[in-house]
Amino acid sequence: MKINENIVLKEKNGIRYIQFKPLLDLNIKNAYTLKNDNLIFKKPGYGQKVNFDTYEKLCNVVEMNGKNVIIPQANHTNNVKNIDRKYTNEELEKIDGLITNKKDFVLATTNADCILYLLYDKEKKVIGNIHSGWKGSYKRIIENAIDEMQKNYDCNPENIIVCICPSIRKCCFEVDKDVRDMFYEKFLFIPNIDTYIEKNEEKNKFFIDTVGINNYLMEQKGIKKENIYDCDICSICNKEDIHSYRAEGKNFNLATAVISL
Ligand SMILES: [Zn+2]
Repeated sequence: MKINENIVLKEKNGIRYIQFKPLLDLNIKNAYTLKNDNLIFKKPGYGQKVNFDTYEKLCNVVEMNGKNVIIPQANHTNNVKNIDRKYTNEELEKIDGLITNKKDFVLATTNADCILYLLYDKEKKVIGNIHSGWKGSYKRIIENAIDEMQKNYDCNPENIIVCICPSIRKCCFEVDKDVRDMFYEKFLFIPNIDTYIEKNEEKNKFFIDTVGINNYLMEQKGIKKENIYDCDICSICNKEDIHSYRAEGKNFNLATAVISL
């Protein structure tokens, strides 16, 4: 796995994770877990009980408050919730993104190929953690996240930094014509859409760059290109280190991304 200039690789108490340097530089605690045999994350959206013990283990390592972990059910919606108090799992149904300005709250999301975004407004001191699978990307959840930050905290997109966790990338996000057509119609307004949605003639399959499409949407919303920090890690190309639904099959495990003020 290639570690680029935006991330650092860490290991503590047998737990391996990466952290985003631009967030660390601003004293924002963050982590994305790599494959760890002793650290399996669950999420309520799959009918699983969240294993808060595991989150506590991770929080101890990254110096976050393990008692204040907030996890949305992440049912592939485009709903983003402002967290102003502790919410029960039931209250976080049909939620895929969280934002807050509350100190000591841990916003957590999980993935295995889906995109996870960690956001931070350095002026208003607001954080966000967004789960955007292909369905969430299709439903443009990243725009809703920016809208909610503006609505609740008067954030200026120019001050928001965005970190992109490991996820499936264009190299491996192979789809059939039905999904290709859905995306093509939906995002036809994007200039050079054919560079984001390409056909591989040999395989007769299509490849979609959901990260690239979301980057375009974010920039249209006023996020500065230089404030988007991508780890550039494909979950399938790096399946030794990163959980992947497509690579692991139906018994797949999840990674988690956490961020806290
Ligand atoms: Zn790949």
